[in-house]
Amino acid sequence: MAAKTSNAFDYAPAPESTAIVDIKPSYGLFVNGEFTDATSGRGFKTISPSTEEVLAEIAEADAADVDLAVKAARRAYTRVWSRMSGAERGKYLFRIARIIQERAREFAVLESIDNGKPIKETRDVDVPTVAAHFFYYAGWADKLEYSGYGTGPDGPQPLGVAGQVIPWNFPLLMLAWKIAPALACGNTVVLKPAETTPLTALLFAEVCQQADLPPGVVNIVTGAGETGRALIGHPDVDKVAFTGSTEVGRSIAKAVAGSDKRVTLELGGKAANIVFDDAPVDQAVEGIVNGIFFNQGHVCCAGSRLLVQESVAEEVLGKLKRRMKTLRVGDPLDKNTDIGAINSAEQLAKIRELSEVGEAEGAERWSPPCDLPSTGFWFPPTIFTGVSQAHRIAREEIFGPVLSVITFRTPKEAVEKANNTPFGLSAGIWTDKGSRILWTASQLRAGVVWSNTFNRFDPASPFGGYKESGYGREGGRHGLEAYLR
Ligand code: NDP
Repeated sequence: MAAKTSNAFDYAPAPESTAIVDIKPSYGLFVNGEFTDATSGRGFKTISPSTEEVLAEIAEADAADVDLAVKAARRAYTRVWSRMSGAERGKYLFRIARIIQERAREFAVLESIDNGKPIKETRDVDVPTVAAHFFYYAGWADKLEYSGYGTGPDGPQPLGVAGQVIPWNFPLLMLAWKIAPALACGNTVVLKPAETTPLTALLFAEVCQQADLPPGVVNIVTGAGETGRALIGHPDVDKVAFTGSTEVGRSIAKAVAGSDKRVTLELGGKAANIVFDDAPVDQAVEGIVNGIFFNQGHVCCAGSRLLVQESVAEEVLGKLKRRMKTLRVGDPLDKNTDIGAINSAEQLAKIRELSEVGEAEGAERWSPPCDLPSTGFWFPPTIFTGVSQAHRIAREEIFGPVLSVITFRTPKEAVEKANNTPFGLSAGIWTDKGSRILWTASQLRAGVVWSNTFNRFDPASPFGGYKESGYGREGGRHGLEAYLR
């Protein structure tokens, strides 16, 4: 259903066909190159967040299954993968990248169904970026000696078995961020996708079979938090890689403290998107919309705090509201949809709760007129003005399509407010002056700083945070370090 606009015409529905996707009634775990049942026989259901329809029954891995997967990964590491030349490993990664490209539409439709995100984004952002990631790291596999981490006998060595736990907001993209560098460096992996979005990881398992990847190099164990805990805590896992909430990240850091496991954590954010008075306003408005409404705001680096210079605040907010009235909320599979479904009932409850807190604390809430579908999980694009830095909506990660607007008068004040957060993952700067971009970027404590753009991802570019946003970098040459001894 579309957001109501004052347009004289409306869009006709443009649904993407689902015929390309074959969702099976049930899925097993992917261990040692084969799909197997969970030893306990237990399972859980994955649903479509836009219709609440049950899509499939998924096997739930317990500690015994995790142990089998880690053993398979260890065998594959010792006998095959760590002995293989980088050039040979690269061939498999190139093959995987090409198959993902060939099956791109299937992946895009499946991701949209299981996650609720618009097909426009899975088709144009998620899946192409996934393929690009595999291509990029395939290229590194035989060039590790040139990566700056030593050469010869003291050169880069793999760590062993990587235990990887990923969230639901970019299910396939986070899988690529984790698996591609790990495999390129000669490690084998056991990956746990999020409980609400397992389907594209299981389709990726089929791609591994299609690519003839040696059994055990990639293992996928589905389940909830307990499965993740068993994987992280497994004594034969050498490397832990996690993306998700700061709270779980903290518990993982505690769980592995004192062991010799290597850890990278990519956690939450509360990014400032700073608009100076000399910014190109129309472009900035597009950047604000992309910063917070892309992927329903389920983005760790989302520009969830708009810092706008007081002298242009009225103009920027006026244009932002006008633009928001044109955003189309509804069926994720409609090619015109800008904002899809919220991923789960739990996440919707959290967004609602924090929005109510925002109102109770005195901020002013605004959303465009918007008909939301009656089934599924939906939240309209929302902005809060009159937000103070002490408000919870200015401090906590809402992880939804909700923007907190704060004004500032001087560049120094903008920087102080931008840095006044426990997080430090990303930031945006909108200005006409290169010198102001460089000065502001040098003052910001954020891992990624975009200027006159937002939410741009490239496999060659490192990504990661400061403070409670975690540690370690993914992507680029820097991303190799996390998987090398
Ligand atoms: P979590 O951090 O709980 O989940 C991330 C992954 O970790 C999932 O695969 C999850 O499994 C797994 N997991 C949960 N508990 C443990 C544990 N003790 N040990 C090992 N793995 C575990 O995020 P949620 O999905 O619960 O979302 C909660 C909040 O976190 C959101 O509202 C949002 O604010 C934030 N978030 C931030 C993300 C980011 O990238 N910054 C990504 C996702 C969420 P399962 O899903 O099956 O429970």
